[in-house]
Amino acid sequence: MIKAGEVSPPAATTFPPAAVVLMSDPAKMGENVTPADPKVAVIAGAGPAGLTAAYELLERTGVKPLVFESDAQVGGISKTVNYKGNRIDIGGHRFFSKSDRVMRWWDRMLPVQGAPSGDRSLDISYRNASRAVSLVAGGPDPERTDAVMLVRSRLSRILYLGKFFDYPVRLNARTVANLGAARIVRIGASYARARAVPIRPERSLEDFLINRFGRQLYRTFFKDYTEKVWGLPCDRISAEWGAQRIKGLSITSAITHALTRRLRGRGGIGQKDVETSLIESFLYPKYGPGQMWERVARIVTDRGGEVRLRHTVVGVVNDDDEIVAARVMDEATGEVRTVRCDYFFSTMPVQDLVDRLERPAPANVREVADGLVYRDFVTVGLLLRRLRLGAAAGAATDGMVPDNWIYIQEPDVKVGRLQIFNNWSPYMVADPGTAWLGLEYFCNAGDELWSLADDVFVKMAMDELDRIGVIDRNDVIDSTILRVPKTYPAYFGAYERFGEIRAYLDGYRNLFLVGRNGMHKYNNQDHSMLTAMIAVDNIVAGVTGKDNLWSVNTEMDYHEERLQRTGKSTG
Ligand SMILES: Cc1cc2nc3c(=O)[nH]c(=O)nc-3n(C[C@H](O)[C@H](O)[C@H](O)COP(=O)(O)OP(=O)(O)OC[C@H]3O[C@@H](n4cnc5c(N)ncnc54)[C@H](O)[C@@H]3O)c2cc1C
Repeated sequence: MIKAGEVSPPAATTFPPAAVVLMSDPAKMGENVTPADPKVAVIAGAGPAGLTAAYELLERTGVKPLVFESDAQVGGISKTVNYKGNRIDIGGHRFFSKSDRVMRWWDRMLPVQGAPSGDRSLDISYRNASRAVSLVAGGPDPERTDAVMLVRSRLSRILYLGKFFDYPVRLNARTVANLGAARIVRIGASYARARAVPIRPERSLEDFLINRFGRQLYRTFFKDYTEKVWGLPCDRISAEWGAQRIKGLSITSAITHALTRRLRGRGGIGQKDVETSLIESFLYPKYGPGQMWERVARIVTDRGGEVRLRHTVVGVVNDDDEIVAARVMDEATGEVRTVRCDYFFSTMPVQDLVDRLERPAPANVREVADGLVYRDFVTVGLLLRRLRLGAAAGAATDGMVPDNWIYIQEPDVKVGRLQIFNNWSPYMVADPGTAWLGLEYFCNAGDELWSLADDVFVKMAMDELDRIGVIDRNDVIDSTILRVPKTYPAYFGAYERFGEIRAYLDGYRNLFLVGRNGMHKYNNQDHSMLTAMIAVDNIVAGVTGKDNLWSVNTEMDYHEERLQRTGKSTG
């Protein structure tokens, strides 16, 4: 008989890798659990959701968290990869939330800067417009302290037909000049038509976007990029994606935002009422998003929780209505051990969870899980002496533009988005005299693009940026490539039958699906964290229903209101 938290057979001592310092002694995992000990929660995955769950359990319950992570570092999709002192953020992670609970939580982990960082970002000048962001009185100085959250001002643009457009697109003189009067008239007419005769019912993402922007604007700025991201025509993607991600964004909201901005000035980070796509300032850890999650992991281990890297949950032992244990494989040795648990938090892809249940789920649930679709992601890191952009792009003399990221809308290249890590945080770059870029490609694991040899992929990436005039390939100093599977849970494939999975798994009283792939939901970090926080709320309050977890990112406003009314915003 194994007691909760105990491993069987005893753990080997082959881990962790020397570079990882935040874990407790692996040989002792579970050893300090004695019969009188608290309950144990096994947590699959050390991304934002898993680590938030672990932290909250330690903070508010007597339950001991054991976190198993298959990767060699924490953070999940929100990790930061350090390549020779140059740091890569997979996707560019803005820290912004409409949830006060999350904003306060982040602030406790990494306080907001009180002095300028060593770059020009606190007062960006761009095309005669100057923007300044606010500092927090008494906050840490990023030039002296590492544990600090920077306040960044967002600039992102679209590169299309060799020209830069504001993102979100603004109806201003530059847009008119770039597009030409004839196209502007066509855009205006098609927008008027879309408002007068909207497509009903609104079934697909294409319907959703045409209803809000008109067919012409949709074709110019949304269609190609969205199809690059999803690898599917927009008329085959559910309108629900738009409803969840860009529900508040429309021409009307963009114009209202532009007008009111003049009255209220540039937003600080408390832009609670602002549609997410329009948020102008955001928080960002000095060393990228992974710094947040490394810090949380350290706190978790310091307080008696455990975080085991390169340990994969390969089996889940279930009885009728609860999860009793996890089978965990040590990736270094291949050894599989059984870890008993009182609670099981899953942030692994729900498809994998269903597949790994030892007493199989009903056939219909397995069929839906098998049919879930994901989109995968490749980032090419390029280190350059300089960029090749000129004054027309708003570039400085070294070719550097102020953008955090640029959407690449050019039709003849595969790259979807370009991150300029210098502008996320100057501390992401080892030598401030260089430009450190992340080129993002959306693909399906195993497809032609994904399977290209690393050197071929990197060469293609360099050629593409050279061809569209962003760099001169001779300026490339160094490069790297990262492949990240299952970055986007898709709202097509078997997704429309997802309710069958949910109904079945919600029946396990001690199982909590949390996070992004854990719930197959397009959750950002804040949503992923909130699901973990609310799961712990439920444990504390003895609530067995799971509906409040599923309402995060669907009925966020309602949820926040409810928290405030009931005074349960413990953040
Ligand atoms: C391109 C892109 C841009 C984004 N931008 C933003 C942004 O600007 N702001 C924002 O807030 N969010 C952003 N996000 C979303 C953010 O990355 C996710 O919301 C967040 O990382 C999800 O956290 P999670 O813990 O649920 O899952 P993950 O981050 O996916 O972590 C899950 C972890 O579980 C591990 N795992 C999986 N299976 C197993 C197993 N069987 N055993 C053990 N471990 C396992 C994985 O290795 C992983 O580390 C972005 C995402 C992408 C793809």
